[in-house]
Amino acid sequence: MEKRKVFDQEISLLGLGTMRLPVKNNEKGEIDKEAASAIFDYALNHGVNYIDTAYMYHNGNAEAFTGEVLAQYDRKSYVLATKMPAWLAHSEAGVERIFEGQLKKLKTDYFDFYLCHNLNIPYYPYFKKYKVMEYLARKKEEGLIKHLGFSFHDTPEVMKQYLADFDWEFGQIQLNYLDWEMQKAKEQYQLLTDKKLPVIVMEPLRGGALATLSPDALNHLQKTHPTKTPADLGLRFAAQLPNVMTVLSGMSSLKQLKENIETMDHFAPLSEAEQKNLNIALTLYKENKMIPCTGCRYCDGCPQGVDIATMFEINNHYRLGGSTWTYVQEYESLPSSAHEDNCTACGKCVEKCPQGLDIPALLEKTGEMIKAAYRNS
Ligand code: SF4
Ligand code: SF4
Repeated sequence: MEKRKVFDQEISLLGLGTMRLPVKNNEKGEIDKEAASAIFDYALNHGVNYIDTAYMYHNGNAEAFTGEVLAQYDRKSYVLATKMPAWLAHSEAGVERIFEGQLKKLKTDYFDFYLCHNLNIPYYPYFKKYKVMEYLARKKEEGLIKHLGFSFHDTPEVMKQYLADFDWEFGQIQLNYLDWEMQKAKEQYQLLTDKKLPVIVMEPLRGGALATLSPDALNHLQKTHPTKTPADLGLRFAAQLPNVMTVLSGMSSLKQLKENIETMDHFAPLSEAEQKNLNIALTLYKENKMIPCTGCRYCDGCPQGVDIATMFEINNHYRLGGSTWTYVQEYESLPSSAHEDNCTACGKCVEKCPQGLDIPALLEKTGEMIKAAYRNS
């Protein structure tokens, strides 16, 4: 496994994310412990040493599960990262309660990397109001945190303000070949690099969308690079950047993990031809006008019961060339309470979306598509 030396630590170029562990009964909160433990064990035994979790992953169950598995390993054999969701803390005391709970759940007495989670315009005021950075700086002085950084979902202009506001040590951004331009990941990477802050990459495959692509984009890559998968090319796009410390992948199966380890074991930057063909595949993919939802489900909890992520997912299946019949079947298999037409445009989900999607407007478009599909089916 390729390693990068950061803060005098050897960090694996592939990091294990815990946001998309295998689950039972299709329930986000029900981690399939047997399958997920197998992923951890394989990763840790094959050179992956960076483990990334967060308070809210898997409805709050990811940290406790991660702690259970890691308790079987020497604490010095892995690098552990978790995050503070200030918007869920409700008070300064709440910040302390969350942090102390994380130490317990993860069965550790220190975090190697600790992040202020999801800094963006709606959530940053909670970090200020509850004096989160001051609290975490104290925890760093006490030796409970080795390195303090942030994960980020907003514009480069906003990042500039946050960078000036605190003495951060690293930054975690959404970086992949689609978001390089679309979400200005290129500028975000440059801002962090200019500040000499190492970069942790999240969503290198955009929630798996860049691993499957669209039929025409996939076809192009299979023709031009038959021995490579889109996932291999996507991971290498991110990993080839010199200031990237690790590339996190939220792997849901051993198969994905093994493929990603293979990529990073024999890591090589993209060749000129690979880069060119990736650009062509991207152009083809973008022609499908997909909704750029990563399926992260941060927007869950709509007061009207709309299942936003699933509505966008079935819409995207259709845009990728799925049949009208399948689209209607997928739509009808959901309870009617989950459908887009229950949306009252209250906007509560919008501030939760790290992709900044105008969810009510996109749901309206989804509604138009499903109506057209009914007319044509
Ligand atoms: S805007 Fe619509 S989908 Fe979003 S929370 Fe409100 S009702 Fe639910
Ligand atoms: S709409 Fe936004 S918050 Fe909801 S699943 Fe998609 S990307 Fe995540």
